[in-house]
Amino acid sequence: MEQCQALEQIQTEFQVNTDHMHAIVKQFVQEMNKGLDHHGATVAMIPSFVSGRPTGQEKGQYLALDLGGTNLRVCQVALLGDGQYTLHQQKYVVSDQLKLGDMRHLCDFIADCVDDFISEHGDQHTTLDLGFTFSFPILQTSINSGELKQWTKGFACANAVGKDPAVLLQDAFHRKNLQVNIAAIVNDTVGTLMAHAYRHPETTMGVILGTGSNTCYYEDISQIKKDFNHGKTLSDEMVVNMEWGAFDCERRILPLTMYDNKMNRESVNVNEQLFEKMISGMYLGEIARNCMLYWIDRLVLFGGRSSPELNTQWRFETAYMSTIQADHSKDLAATKHVLEDIMDLPAGSTTLADRQLVQVICQSVGRRSARLAACGLAGILSHKNLVVGDNGQDDGSCLIAIDGSLFEFYPDFEKNMTEALVELFGEKMRSRVRFELSRDGSGLGASVIAMMASKLASQ
Ligand code: ADP
Ligand code: MG
Repeated sequence: MEQCQALEQIQTEFQVNTDHMHAIVKQFVQEMNKGLDHHGATVAMIPSFVSGRPTGQEKGQYLALDLGGTNLRVCQVALLGDGQYTLHQQKYVVSDQLKLGDMRHLCDFIADCVDDFISEHGDQHTTLDLGFTFSFPILQTSINSGELKQWTKGFACANAVGKDPAVLLQDAFHRKNLQVNIAAIVNDTVGTLMAHAYRHPETTMGVILGTGSNTCYYEDISQIKKDFNHGKTLSDEMVVNMEWGAFDCERRILPLTMYDNKMNRESVNVNEQLFEKMISGMYLGEIARNCMLYWIDRLVLFGGRSSPELNTQWRFETAYMSTIQADHSKDLAATKHVLEDIMDLPAGSTTLADRQLVQVICQSVGRRSARLAACGLAGILSHKNLVVGDNGQDDGSCLIAIDGSLFEFYPDFEKNMTEALVELFGEKMRSRVRFELSRDGSGLGASVIAMMASKLASQ
C-alpha cells in the first residue's frame, strides 16, 4: 500500500506534462535569443568559428585530442575523400588528481600521451595539425584560441579559468619539442556535427548525451547580434555552441525535485549546469540514488535498510539504470543483481515490490531526461522555423547527429524524445526529425575542423 503511494508520488514528481514542456520551450527560445544578443547570458550561445559545411571530399592527415569525457583520447585520422576515413586511437585515463590539480600538470600529462601516441603510430618528422576537442565552456576568440569560462563535469584544475587552453597545451608541446600545431579548439558538440556532416552534409545539429549534455547548430551569422570578430568565414552560416547545460540556472521553469536539489547541493559546481544535471549520464544515477535513499528513510524501500555502497555519493551509476530498465524478467533478476550484488544490499533482502519501485524510479528519471533534452531541441527547431506552423506549411526536415552513451544505451531514450516532440508539435515530427548516432566527433569531427581551419588560413 505504502509502496503504491510512493510509486504514484515518484511518477508525479518526475512528470513533465505537455503544458510544462511548452513553457520550457518558450523560455528556451527566449534564452537563445538573449545569448545571441549579448555576452554573459545564461545560455552562452558561443560562436565556434566553424563556418561552412564539409563536402566529404576533404583529404589529409590530422591528429585529434579529446579531453572532457571519461578518458583522454588521442587519434590519428586520415581523411580519404568520399566521406571515407581511417582512424587510429589510444585512450588514456585522467586521474582525479590530474582533474583537480594544476592545469600545467594536466597539460604536461596530455603532451606525454601525445608523445607516446606519435612514437607508436605517427610520423615524427612533419608538423601535424591537431584538432583539440576540449568540451568545456570556452569563449572562443578564433578557431584556435579562446578563454576557459569555467570547469564542468568534475574537472576543477587551478590556473586555467580565464586562460587559453590552446596556449597552455601548445606550451606543453613546446616543452617536449613535439611537432604538433593546435589548429582548432573544438567543442564536442561541434565535432559531432562535423563528423556526421562529413558523411551526411545535410546534418544540422550536433548533440551530446553522455557524461554531460550540450548542443550546437548552424546559425546565420547575421542572427548573431552580439559583438564578435569573426574575420574571414567560409560561408554566411556559423556553428553556435549553445552551452545549453546552463539553461535556467535562475530556476524559473525546470521541474527540480528534492532529489535534484540534493544532488546539486553536493556537486562540485553547485547551482551551475542545472539543465545538464537533469539530463546527462553523470547525474541521473545520483538523482535515482537520492530518490531510493529518501524512500529507504521512510521505511518504504528495502524495509528501511541501505548499504555502505548505496550510501556513497555517485556510486549508483547511470549504466545500472539502463540494466534495470531493460530488465523484463518476471522476478526482476537483473535488478536484483544490481541491488544485491553490485550495490551490496544483503542477499535476498529486496522484495519484488522493492525492485518494481526501483524500476519505476529509474524509468521516471530516464524519461524525464529524454523529455527535457527534447524541449531543448524543440527550442532550436522553433527558433529555426523547422516546426510545422498552424497553417500547415512545410519547412523541411532535420537530421540531428547525437553522440553519447546515454543516447546509445539508455532504453527508450530516442523513443521518449520523439514522443515529446510529437506531443509538442504533432505527428509530423516523426518523419521530420531524424536522430542518428554519431560516434566519432572528437576524432573525425575534430580532424575535419582542423582541415577547415587550415583551408581558411591558406585562403
Ligand atoms: P563521454 O560523454 O564521457 O565522452 P560517453 O558518451 O560514453 O562518454 O558517456 C559516458 C556517460 O554515459 C557516463 O557518465 C555514464 O553515466 C553514461 N553511461 C555509460 N554507459 C551507459 C549505459 N549503458 N546506459 C546509460 N548511461 C550510460
Ligand atoms: Mg564524448
